[in-house]
Amino acid sequence: MENVLLWGFYFLTFYAFLPGFISRTFGFRVFKRGRAREEIALTFDDGPDPVYTPRLLDLLRKYGAKATFFVVGVHAEQHPELLRRMAEEGHDIGIHNYVHKTNWLMRPGTVKKQIARTSGIIEQATGVKPVYYRPPWGIVNLFDFANLGYLQIILWSAMFGDWRKRVGAERLTARMMKKLSPGEVLLLHDCGRTFGADEDAPEQMLQALEVYLQRGSERGYRFVTIGEMIAVTDKNRAREKAGRKPGWFKRTVTACWMAWERCFNVLFRIVDVGDGSLLHYRIRPYRGGELVLDDGAVIRPNDKIVELHFDNAKLRQLLENSRSLMKVAIFLIRETEKALPALARHLESRADLRDVKGLYGISMIHRGPEAFGFSVLDLPRGAFRFFTTRYLRLLIRVLHPSGGELLRDKNAQFYPRIMAISLTEFLRRYGSASGRPQPDASDALDPAAASALPADGPAAAVLTGGKTLQQ
Ligand SMILES: [Zn+2]
Repeated sequence: MENVLLWGFYFLTFYAFLPGFISRTFGFRVFKRGRAREEIALTFDDGPDPVYTPRLLDLLRKYGAKATFFVVGVHAEQHPELLRRMAEEGHDIGIHNYVHKTNWLMRPGTVKKQIARTSGIIEQATGVKPVYYRPPWGIVNLFDFANLGYLQIILWSAMFGDWRKRVGAERLTARMMKKLSPGEVLLLHDCGRTFGADEDAPEQMLQALEVYLQRGSERGYRFVTIGEMIAVTDKNRAREKAGRKPGWFKRTVTACWMAWERCFNVLFRIVDVGDGSLLHYRIRPYRGGELVLDDGAVIRPNDKIVELHFDNAKLRQLLENSRSLMKVAIFLIRETEKALPALARHLESRADLRDVKGLYGISMIHRGPEAFGFSVLDLPRGAFRFFTTRYLRLLIRVLHPSGGELLRDKNAQFYPRIMAISLTEFLRRYGSASGRPQPDASDALDPAAASALPADGPAAAVLTGGKTLQQ
């Protein structure tokens, strides 16, 4: 008996309570409240219901309100027409398991199947694959985090017991009015056929909601889908972050960094091309293994090369002052567009550089440099790759306001690679014989370079540390 209790305790702690605690306390992969000035997100669980859902949709339409429905698979299966109507009228549809059962009582594999089955039903009815998941009673277990993959868990900031009839329309209205403020994510129910609920409870929910929508509209609030609420929240958070001064720790680290940068430049004879160019370089013998470039040229050990470096101070300024990553990407491409011809002229003007074999750098950009004519090659495994990876990741973390988050999100993409181009090819593309306009005259964005942004978002192309370590 004691053993059973003990195991029960472990089970509840690790399988049930701990994840709930973690997700609720730290908001880990869970969205429950927005940061907004005028947006409120209404969410409706347990439906669709043939009686109440159409009436709810009418009511929402009357006030121009958008909402999010977390549907139960078995109900959705019976009413695909209601799902279609939700989608057509601009609402979001999320998953609320196939049957209304808590994840505590199901094995991880079963939860996964329930989600997949419901996802299939929604996709078949609307043509859209759902991206939001709300576990019944908001209860998640440890495995849900691993199981969900692309799905984001949505909880709520306010609930009112609207599934119980005895609450009464008046009391329900009063409770809801207390939560009439931007950023709230309201949990309501458009179906009373689940365990523990009263079947006709949605009747009074509809009455209370009408008052809520009316008052909210009078105050100028907008009722939005959870997707829009998340987007608005991200935007507002980024804005707040940009407005906030970085903490003393980050300031100290950055200051040390920049001091180190200056030392590095002096110690290793980094040359600044001038004119505020993003690219610096130094001349050195190549030390790595043989590099075969896309144009057939080969860089061999001890060949003289131009080693490229980004001006990290400039890079830091750029990253700090820009709010959207897309803007950073475009700006960076533009700067590189200007820097390459400037560098080409500079190299042409130096007679002592005629015997340089090629240009070489280490970069986190994987697809961007190809548009500029660079070959992108793997770094050989080993200590150098190991330390360069750490170094560049640290660089991103320090330089970018939300660098840490980016590293977590796109983990797999953040490893350094070699970018190289032969001097012949470089001068052919960017030198004075290339027919390119003078560097300062060219301000236009090369469409080829713009399309070099990776398909999965600009972040991967943006975050670069051109700095190479001593080999
Ligand atoms: Zn529910």
